[in-house]
Amino acid sequence: MAVSSYERLQRVLELEKRQSWRNRAVIGGIAAMRERWLADARAEGRDAAAIKAIDVIMLAYKDADRTTRTAMVEAMLAALAGDLTLANALVSTAPITPPPAEKASASASVESAASPAPGPPAAKPRAEEAPAPSVVAPPEPTHVARRRVEERKAARHRDPADLLASPSILNGVGPSRVELLARLGVRTVGDLLWHLPSRYDDFSQLRTISQVQPGEQVTLVANLWEIRTRKISKNREIVQGILADGTGTIHATWWSKWVAKKLKPETTMRFSGKVGLYMGQKTLDNPVFEDIDQEMVATGRLSPVYPLTEGVSNNWLRGLIKQALDDYAACLVDPLPDDLRERYGLPDLQTAIYQVHLPDDQASLDAARRRLAFDELFYIQLGVLKRRSELRESTAPAMQVDGGLLDGYKAALPFPLTNAQARVLDECVRDVQRSVPMTRLVQGDVGSGKTAVAAGLMYAAARNGLQSAMLAPTQILAEQHHRGLSALLAPLARADGEPLAVALLTGRVTGAAREEILADLREGRTDIVVGTTALIQGAVEFANLGLAVVDEQHRFGVEQRGALRTKSELQPHLLVMSATPIPRSLALTVYGDLDVSAIDEMPPGRIPVKTKIFRPPERERLYGFMRREAQHGRQAFIVYPLVEESDKLDVGSAVEAHQRLSQEIFPDLRVGLLHGRMSGGEKDEVMRAFAAGEYDVLVSTTVVEVGIDVPNASLIMIEDADRFGLAQLHQLRGRVCRGEHKSYCALVTKAQGREAMERLNALEETNDGFKLAEKDLELRGPGDFLGSRQSGLPNLRIARLSDMETLRDAREAAEHLFTDDPNLDRHPELQRQVARFWRGHGDIS
Ligand code: ADP
Ligand code: MG
Repeated sequence: MAVSSYERLQRVLELEKRQSWRNRAVIGGIAAMRERWLADARAEGRDAAAIKAIDVIMLAYKDADRTTRTAMVEAMLAALAGDLTLANALVSTAPITPPPAEKASASASVESAASPAPGPPAAKPRAEEAPAPSVVAPPEPTHVARRRVEERKAARHRDPADLLASPSILNGVGPSRVELLARLGVRTVGDLLWHLPSRYDDFSQLRTISQVQPGEQVTLVANLWEIRTRKISKNREIVQGILADGTGTIHATWWSKWVAKKLKPETTMRFSGKVGLYMGQKTLDNPVFEDIDQEMVATGRLSPVYPLTEGVSNNWLRGLIKQALDDYAACLVDPLPDDLRERYGLPDLQTAIYQVHLPDDQASLDAARRRLAFDELFYIQLGVLKRRSELRESTAPAMQVDGGLLDGYKAALPFPLTNAQARVLDECVRDVQRSVPMTRLVQGDVGSGKTAVAAGLMYAAARNGLQSAMLAPTQILAEQHHRGLSALLAPLARADGEPLAVALLTGRVTGAAREEILADLREGRTDIVVGTTALIQGAVEFANLGLAVVDEQHRFGVEQRGALRTKSELQPHLLVMSATPIPRSLALTVYGDLDVSAIDEMPPGRIPVKTKIFRPPERERLYGFMRREAQHGRQAFIVYPLVEESDKLDVGSAVEAHQRLSQEIFPDLRVGLLHGRMSGGEKDEVMRAFAAGEYDVLVSTTVVEVGIDVPNASLIMIEDADRFGLAQLHQLRGRVCRGEHKSYCALVTKAQGREAMERLNALEETNDGFKLAEKDLELRGPGDFLGSRQSGLPNLRIARLSDMETLRDAREAAEHLFTDDPNLDRHPELQRQVARFWRGHGDIS
């Protein structure tokens, strides 16, 4: 069968790509195949619009520069596949028109038919020439550099689609480099612009040799007097040079010999590095260097240091990013409206990106970083506001809750509510009396009594003839809640006098039992159902779901949390509960679509857990203490970070430890084992047995972290405690101190590092989850307790959630813009960026 016109062109284009867009895939250039191709395509009855677009692009291909060509090839390929968006964009915009003179000459020289076998692409001529160099010439002042950026921007009109081109269109990037860059997550030129420095070397201090002091980072303009390579061991050579300016000489040492190839004696260059002292003489260690007639990139300025991967040097990457900035920063479209930028004093996007890589000075760098951070926080706020307004538009069943109802509930409880519990319950009750769906986050430290608040609300719902569902992260916890709620609500009745019907639905409930529960839910016989994610599966229907409660919400994926909401025609009120305390200002951002209540008070009579750090040699003593506790009828947890020794890290393993503990250390005690690779049923059985007092010691991984209540447990020993996050340790510690016994938390660690110790010390010092959250924020940023997995937030590249000032600005700006243009219809680029930012993060509540 004959090859179709489409297939033929596709092959040509793929070849063209492999040959780096030199217009040599077809003899005489792509345009040479045009007439024949058009005739064939028409004869095959292909889409006329596609043929037309491809024709225009084929014609223009010859005169386009390389960047445009990459886009053209993609556009044609897409058109062949039936997608004309790119092609139409190209045809209707500038890139099809002849390129700027500089580019045209470059591509012409590459493409000329007479040129021999394809070599590396011709170097681009520099548009700007620095003044003639001299040893004493100062580096170019920053305002000149800034003007150049302006000129560059003005000179080029670029298509944003160019940012999607492969980095291979840049000079010096072949297939192997493309692969290395991909390892850094850089797949396009745009990615390269967004590959941000992790830090900067400050080489902005220009000195004469006589001025330099050991310890300083400096830039020297100096003549390289001599250079030689010296063998210092069998397979190690160093390069040594002597640098001179009018004021003196200084030695320079490089630890890799490749520099010898790049440096020529008797040349004058800029050298930047740290001044050291060797045998009483000042030296420059491993200085970076640049021609003085070259624009300052590596030397003489704040010089970027990038995240790297093996095979990619900072020098090379810095040069490449500079190239990308010069040629492509102009393609960036600023999503922020000008007036907004002005109001908050933010630089435009192109300037910010340029300055974040190659800052003129610290102030420009700060401004650039602030701008980029602002964008991220602004996108968060816009997403959150949108969600909030969507929610507010839906309707929930308004409940009637009078004082008598609440008094009845309180009277039925075995304990008086704490003031904090009562206050938060009131806040919730106020919400559910309205027909706007409640979306409230209740934060309360481990053991603060969140369940009693939720139960009160569920009771109110039942009195209103509405169903409630409570979602728990694990089977064990669901069962525990089911038991607890059944007991708590037993003395109470529905409006019709019947006892409340409380059901349990987990993955383990199957067959006829499951069918019965589903029918009861569907037909409204069940008032309250507690369950795992089995609750949000398709088969589950409610007669009139009025309230959804999500416990330990950080354990759920974002989508799961949202799922209960869609279970009925009216939106149910939503209550999410979290023991991961976050500072209030942060909560406003991260859970900006939720109202936040805090239970900031513990039930009375709790004896706080005593926490102490231990070193491995002290284990024997701890075991002794554990045995004594067991003899008094108490129980203990021992928690290990990983399940098996095969995990490379040098950490204890629960499985092995269990063997050793049960056979050698506690042969006289009953030692249980719990870890994440056991089946759900096995885990439940172990947990149930432990709660029933059938084990003295439970060896476990972090599976025990979530909400399990074993009042008889009085000691938790955490091995390799430094490997856990602060929030997680606090959660683990909450497993004890659930009853009236004095309890203990032993953190075993061999860590010496300052940061690790500071975190563990914080746990020793306070039992207050909020204080710990602040501490964590201070020590590690929001990452640990607010990792994006937990918060449901997209990853932040540059913004810090602890940056309250920018956070405030971004929130204010977002609110302002949102009232004006809620769907961002008048801000299309912003709309695109917000959507991209939030992609895959559908629902943050
Ligand atoms: P969490 O907030 O961690 O979910 P729970 O709701 O499980 O805490 O409550 C922890 C324990 O404290 C439970 O045993 C519960 O019965 C008890 N409790 C809750 N509120 C009070 C109170 N006001 N006074 C005394 N004990 C309480
Ligand atoms: Mg709980």
